Amino acid sequence: MRKFFAKAWAIIITVYEFLGRKHRVATAIFLWKGKYRPEKIVLAQIVPMRRCNLACTYCNEYDKHSTEIPLNEVKGWIDKLAELGTLNITISGGEPMLHTGIYDIIGYIRSKKIMAGLITNGYTLTEKNIKRLNESGLQDLQISIDNVEKDDVSEKSLSFYESKNIPRMLQQLAKFNVNFNSVVGGGVNKASDALTITRRAFQLGFSSTVGIIHDEDGLLKELTPEEAQIYEQIKKISGKSLSFAKLSRFQDELVEKKESPWECRAGARYVYICEHGRVQLCSQHRICKNGAPHHNPVSADTMLDIPIMEYTKQDFDREFNTKKWCTDTCTIQCVRLVSLFDEKRDPQFEYTDYVQVQTRGLNPELVDRLRDQ
Ligand code: SF4
Ligand code: SF4
Repeated sequence: MRKFFAKAWAIIITVYEFLGRKHRVATAIFLWKGKYRPEKIVLAQIVPMRRCNLACTYCNEYDKHSTEIPLNEVKGWIDKLAELGTLNITISGGEPMLHTGIYDIIGYIRSKKIMAGLITNGYTLTEKNIKRLNESGLQDLQISIDNVEKDDVSEKSLSFYESKNIPRMLQQLAKFNVNFNSVVGGGVNKASDALTITRRAFQLGFSSTVGIIHDEDGLLKELTPEEAQIYEQIKKISGKSLSFAKLSRFQDELVEKKESPWECRAGARYVYICEHGRVQLCSQHRICKNGAPHHNPVSADTMLDIPIMEYTKQDFDREFNTKKWCTDTCTIQCVRLVSLFDEKRDPQFEYTDYVQVQTRGLNPELVDRLRDQ
């Protein structure tokens, strides 16, 4: 009975949130195809600019020297992603707004009838830029806000954005959905800031997500009792305004049980294209992290590293079907959410078993046996 009510409540909230969104038709098509077309890439995250204008101390996703990836190259990635059947491309970084072709990139994604999202630190947002984002066809924008007052960890502070009037400008001008993402855990000095940021997002009519800070590998850094309490309070004030992200059980499980097993479909339903135009497992499991060199494509039980222009259906199938070693304490929100679409689909198996199945020509009995294990 409890399960039934939880499910009914989740449906009500999903509908409520859906009605409050802009670009409802595109969202509905996205959700429908995500659920019923398992051959599609649900979300591709691309990095056309690794450089960032900030230097948050917990971050391993930026540098201070790189130049932007030429527009034509980025368009080539988008062409290939369209060919592979991608539903949503989100531009990330570094700071993607530093790319001089950012509006062209968004426009090009939309010209392929793919949903376009942007993750930014928001430092360059002005009235003019917001209008240009509207014109380019952007549908979703996420600003990560780490604290109320800037500190030695991060300058992404609510007070900075308020001093530049950015939240109000977004509220008045944006034709795209706006989400404030805050964090609880390890890297943040004042745990209660996430609560203030969540409240402000709701006041403005935006959605809000809260992430749990992860370590260098994207895995859980345990919350202190105070942080766990703040997390609970955020859940409470979220009430009816729970976003899609908060419907997932995994963060609760991570907070309560310190682990939350799942089947990660990175490399298939979610792909991460680094600034070198290569498919990596995710932002935290990428070969080139900290300037490491690339090498030849590797097996799914180590690390993925394949140029997007050479990515094939076979690569998609292998990554869809094989287990990742790092799932139990993974906190990477976007990949976990995307993988929810396939929760009730083909359970994954070990890479070695997958190779065995492939070499035997997908013997149905063996597949069944492995999947029953
Ligand atoms: S703004 Fe974003 S990309 Fe830049 S350093 Fe901070 S977390 Fe990293
Ligand atoms: S489980 Fe998936 S998303 Fe999480 S760290 Fe591993 S590869 Fe990345």
